[in-house]
Amino acid sequence: MRDFDIIVVGAGPAGLAFARALEGSGLNIALVERQPADVLALPPVDGREIALTHRSVATLERLGAWGRIAPDQIFALRAARVYNGQSPLALGFDTDGGPEDRLGCLVSNHLIRQSLFAAMEGQDGVTLLASTGVEHVHADRAGARVMLADGRTLTARLLVAADSRFSAVREQLGISAEINRLGKSMLVARLSHERPNHGLATEWFGHGQTIAMLPLGEHQSSAVLTLESATIDRIAAYPPEVLAAEIEDRFERRLGTMRFVSGPHVYPLATTYARHFASDGAALIGDAAVGMHPVTAHGFNLGLQSAATLAGLVRDAAQKHRSIASPLLLRRYEARHRLATRPLYSGTNLLVHLYTAESPRAHVARRAALGAAARIGPLNTAITRLLLRH
Ligand SMILES: Cc1cc2nc3c(=O)[nH]c(=O)nc-3n(C[C@H](O)[C@H](O)[C@H](O)COP(=O)(O)OP(=O)(O)OC[C@H]3O[C@@H](n4cnc5c(N)ncnc54)[C@H](O)[C@@H]3O)c2cc1C
Repeated sequence: MRDFDIIVVGAGPAGLAFARALEGSGLNIALVERQPADVLALPPVDGREIALTHRSVATLERLGAWGRIAPDQIFALRAARVYNGQSPLALGFDTDGGPEDRLGCLVSNHLIRQSLFAAMEGQDGVTLLASTGVEHVHADRAGARVMLADGRTLTARLLVAADSRFSAVREQLGISAEINRLGKSMLVARLSHERPNHGLATEWFGHGQTIAMLPLGEHQSSAVLTLESATIDRIAAYPPEVLAAEIEDRFERRLGTMRFVSGPHVYPLATTYARHFASDGAALIGDAAVGMHPVTAHGFNLGLQSAATLAGLVRDAAQKHRSIASPLLLRRYEARHRLATRPLYSGTNLLVHLYTAESPRAHVARRAALGAAARIGPLNTAITRLLLRH
């Protein structure tokens, strides 16, 4: 007799969404999280502004989380522009006059985590084991065994790893991953500005830096600056008003004078892609499966999708009294999630390389490629569709 049907490691957005998506399935789920329950209930601000696709909003609605986010904390993303240095050619992402008045929404990561946790709290069949990490796992066709830091051992039919892009569970399962440490860091800070942004997000590659402005209302944006890690650490230590002036300068005053609101938060950049998303008795979801480069803002969206895909297969198997950890089910999950992620993962990495490579040949290739993309309508439309992902 096993303790649980499923053990989920990690109560980040992916782990929470997975547990929540199994409401009413009759399955017994343990959700193990290193952080204390009061931090999960009220997560600290981490500076990440998540660009949610329409599909993600629909999923959060289904999970009962969307309605818990205050409407004045949901910001419309109406259009996006990608600039290359001083070139007047920009790649543009618009809604193309379709039924949607926006590409998506921007919501702070801590509010999404808070709303998912509130939706899941007290859910029948879910046992939250907070303030304790998972130390060691073993899984095979007979089931999974998990050793906790507090000395307890738990058993289950299926183990689900949702423990971030540097997943220790993935490693212990013997699943290798493509890991690219980019030697750069991202600084995020909230700033107010003189000129309105009109709901337009801009990504500007140039002068050895990448700077993005994500609209949080007409006169407020989240600035996302990417540079060598040592430079980012130096800038992050500036007093708030000096930091705001630095960003204003680096953005060439396109939004006028800027004032510091909150931050900064620094994230070293690394992308990861697991070689497999499942092994006997276990599956990977969220960043543990695919750790995207944040530039195309898909990490959370794909993480949510992985949780929904796996939960759908597991629920279906449980309803039909079939195994919830059969090799066929796990293979199906892996195939579906690979199809959903591999083109986006490779495309994003290619885009980052195209925009940031600094050799003279790379400059010429960049101008040619971006000039073509900006002029060719169908390519722009294809990228927009990718971003909208209905
Ligand atoms: C600056 C920045 C901006 C971003 N912007 C976007 C965006 O616009 N759109 C988008 O879609 N995505 C975005 N992302 C990506 C998004 O934030 C991640 O994809 C998402 O948070 C991953 O969720 P997760 O649940 O898989 O992992 P995490 O959020 O990393 O959660 C993992 C959880 O597991 C717990 N844990 C780890 N190890 C253990 C253990 N051994 N035992 C118990 N618990 C453990 C951790 O405490 C944590 O709570 C951005 C990321 C960054 C850095």
